Amino acid sequence: MNARIDTPAATARAVSRVIQGLPASDGAGVKLTRVIGQPQLDQLDPFLLLDEFRSDSPGDYIGGFPDHPHRGFETVTYMLAGRMRHRDSAGNAGLLVPGSVQWMTAGRGLVHSEMPEQEDGLMWGFQLWVNLPAKDKMTAPRYQDIGPERIPHVALEGGGQVRVIAGALGDVRGPVQAAATTPLYLDIELPPHGRFETGVADGHHAFVYPFVGETTVLAPLRDTPLARGQLGVLGEGDRVVLEAGVNGARVLLVAGRPLQEPVARYGPFVMNTQDEIRQAFSDFQAGRF
Ligand code: MN
Repeated sequence: MNARIDTPAATARAVSRVIQGLPASDGAGVKLTRVIGQPQLDQLDPFLLLDEFRSDSPGDYIGGFPDHPHRGFETVTYMLAGRMRHRDSAGNAGLLVPGSVQWMTAGRGLVHSEMPEQEDGLMWGFQLWVNLPAKDKMTAPRYQDIGPERIPHVALEGGGQVRVIAGALGDVRGPVQAAATTPLYLDIELPPHGRFETGVADGHHAFVYPFVGETTVLAPLRDTPLARGQLGVLGEGDRVVLEAGVNGARVLLVAGRPLQEPVARYGPFVMNTQDEIRQAFSDFQAGRF
């Protein structure tokens, strides 16, 4: 007998739920698809919201997101196509270009705008909201503006590549730091039938979102195909195994440590209690952001 029961084999995570994004409108009439933060999937602790915006009709995006506040969490914008200018109440500004990421820690609060810097052409990307623990909700606002050249690309043996935005793939670390939730954020590009496998911390909540082509999540109990725009919530385990469809795929794989704290949210404010939400409103109305 040489079996060891204290080192169980890695377990591939199966899809526990498939979520279809809903058409939504936010900001000044920006058309988008809300994938997390809608009735079918209110949140996936610590992820509060996932929007995909993708349109080549200027009327769908030209209004942008004029001045609006945030408090209590982080917003992560990943641009695939198009250009977006952001400005905030403290005088910070920056331009998001294709392939760039902005990881903004709203903390105790800021007022900012996110406006398209183009009058036509394709605007495509994602915004993910990542919650902060109670102890960090009132931290000072902080930006991590990351140009495309700072995001490492890892070539895969069978073809394809992975952009490592946060967390690590093997010994390649992404540029984003987010201590509380230690997120993994990968953009995985696979050739037809290409396979990808990586570890995902046991106990962290995770999802897969194919945004080009389709992918199947492979697991011992069941394989689950996901079409473009379907989010797969992953069940327990410590690995993820993906196989692209016949036309290849591009897939987000995102994971993070759940905070397991009460969530009180109202629009752009995400706190732990209703009292803190009321305080956020009165601070905002008094110009204290
Ligand atoms: Mn915003």
